[in-house]
Amino acid sequence: MDAGLKRELEEKVYAGERLTRADGEALYASDDLAWLGRLAHHRRTEKNGDRVMFNVNRHLNLTNVCTASCAYCSFQRKPGEKAAYTMRVEQAVEKALEMKDEQLTELHIVNGLHPTLPWKYYPRVLRALKEALPDVSLKCFTATEVQWFEKISGLPADEILDELIDAGLASLTGGGAEIFDWEIRQQIVDHDCHWEDWSRIHRLAHEKGLRTPATMLYGHIEEPRHRVDHVMRLRELQDETGGFVVFIPLRYQHDFHDSADGIVRNRIQAKTTMASPAESLKTFAVSRLMLDNFDHVKCFWVMHGLSVAQLSLNFGVDDLDGSVVEYKITHDADSYGTPDTMHREDLLTLIQDAGFRPVERNTRYEVVREFDAPMSLADRRREPQQVWA
Ligand code: SF4
Repeated sequence: MDAGLKRELEEKVYAGERLTRADGEALYASDDLAWLGRLAHHRRTEKNGDRVMFNVNRHLNLTNVCTASCAYCSFQRKPGEKAAYTMRVEQAVEKALEMKDEQLTELHIVNGLHPTLPWKYYPRVLRALKEALPDVSLKCFTATEVQWFEKISGLPADEILDELIDAGLASLTGGGAEIFDWEIRQQIVDHDCHWEDWSRIHRLAHEKGLRTPATMLYGHIEEPRHRVDHVMRLRELQDETGGFVVFIPLRYQHDFHDSADGIVRNRIQAKTTMASPAESLKTFAVSRLMLDNFDHVKCFWVMHGLSVAQLSLNFGVDDLDGSVVEYKITHDADSYGTPDTMHREDLLTLIQDAGFRPVERNTRYEVVREFDAPMSLADRRREPQQVWA
């Protein structure tokens, strides 16, 4: 990038000006990672100071049976396949109660598009979970699942959401977004919830008072311009509704160990490599800079490893998800040593060690509890620093 353009972009960022599509593509074209981090850190600090938010959540997948076969997905199973499962309502409650501890504030629930489960199963599960765990927020279902509920019930999303909210739904999840650009999307997604439906369903959720996350799956066959296009669409929708709480770049994962039954379900790994740590940090930084109307950018550490997660705090990220005990969708595809559990104390150490102040939040990003600012450097060096794998 020539020095003039670099200066121009810096001036825009420091003046708080909105960046254009061309600016976003220029930022991705830069290999000056430290510079990108500095710009993103400026924006992040303006919005969130030295705070890093986290919440104590658990992930629950009610079924891995799915009619679709998205090219990147190693989670889905077809009916009757080995390792296909569907929880009865009582099993879901039992599983949730097993995962519960006194600190849990959120259950995150996403599922396959089950071909024969009736729509009524879903609000029934939510009601049972809410009765068993009244203080826990239920963040459930992607827009893709809500569109699937429309198909299997014959009801419009409007009525679907009303019933789910009545049953205890606190937020949709941000999944199903992948990459909105059709040229790429049609090669990786095997259902028909695309930008038009994804945005329609989130808009509707926002109208009903829900605040929702938005995600982006990157590091597969897309190019940086598709990532810029993705965040531009989200920025426009956020201008309209103001209902998004956070943006979450999700790193595409290879299916390293051929899944439990030896079948490689991921059909695009031969065509691509996973994003490197540098590419992930760049993606966090550019996303933070482009999404001036999003309060938070999250690193889902399960997909990045703890080292990148900690570094991401200097590249625009101010939210770490979370205290996860079990996360199937990634971990069916992961054998490179990322732990699948982390607890509050580990997270506090990781955040403070990077020089930030941990703040526990709830699903709506309201503060639950504030923790101490980082120790002074002298105190921190008195004992050896923990090394994160
Ligand atoms: S990503 Fe979701 S919809 Fe696509 S195959 Fe996997 S479980 Fe099914």
